[in-house]
Amino acid sequence: MDKNEKHKAAMQKQKANVDASIERADVERGVAVLLTGNGKGKSSSAFGMVMRALGYGHKVGVVQFIKGQQLSGEEIYIRDHCPQVDFYQMGTGFTWNTQDRTGDIEAAEATWAKVKPMLADPAYNLVVLDELTYMLGYKYLDEAEVLAALKNRPVEQSVVVTGRGGGAALQEIMDTVSEVKDIKHAFTAGIKARQGVDY
Ligand code: ATP
Ligand code: MG
Repeated sequence: MDKNEKHKAAMQKQKANVDASIERADVERGVAVLLTGNGKGKSSSAFGMVMRALGYGHKVGVVQFIKGQQLSGEEIYIRDHCPQVDFYQMGTGFTWNTQDRTGDIEAAEATWAKVKPMLADPAYNLVVLDELTYMLGYKYLDEAEVLAALKNRPVEQSVVVTGRGGGAALQEIMDTVSEVKDIKHAFTAGIKARQGVDY
């Protein structure tokens, strides 16, 4: 068999596999996606899904649980151009900057109070909970309550959670779990965080 024939045979086999998988996937409902791991690309992937959803006119909610002092491009863009996105930030900054556990817990609870109605409202097609995992890791939020709210959300609603860690119980209830692996990062080579790329 020459190279071209070999390729054609391989592609035919692959197509049969893909078609069979598509045939098998017959459940239609929203999905719960967890983007975790130490590499770069979790939040930016979540905002990629926000853009996809907006392309179809879907209703989107975005809640960010940790906010740096630095504004981000996605925040600026959403606030200026996406009045249809309900955007909320915890607004306390990184825990290693606030160094205030009681204040952080209050802020986390106040932020969770914004999330709860979103996770109960079928009008939202997509809800992004950026950096939520840290609230579970630090036990700022009650894990059982958070998991129950994620699990009991409307059938058609998709939810995206980002952040390192998060725990086995969270992974268990999510439909899709992706780990972004840190192979290398520009920052460790001394390159400054870049506008439009990192924030
Ligand atoms: P991004 O928002 O770029 O998708 P992320 O959500 O995966 O990144 P976070 O842990 O939330 O990662 O960190 C946000 C910021 O930290 C970004 O500016 C990102 O470039 C940077 N960052 C992410 N991973 C690393 C890493 N392994 N080393 C250094 N900086 C990182
Ligand atoms: Mg992030």
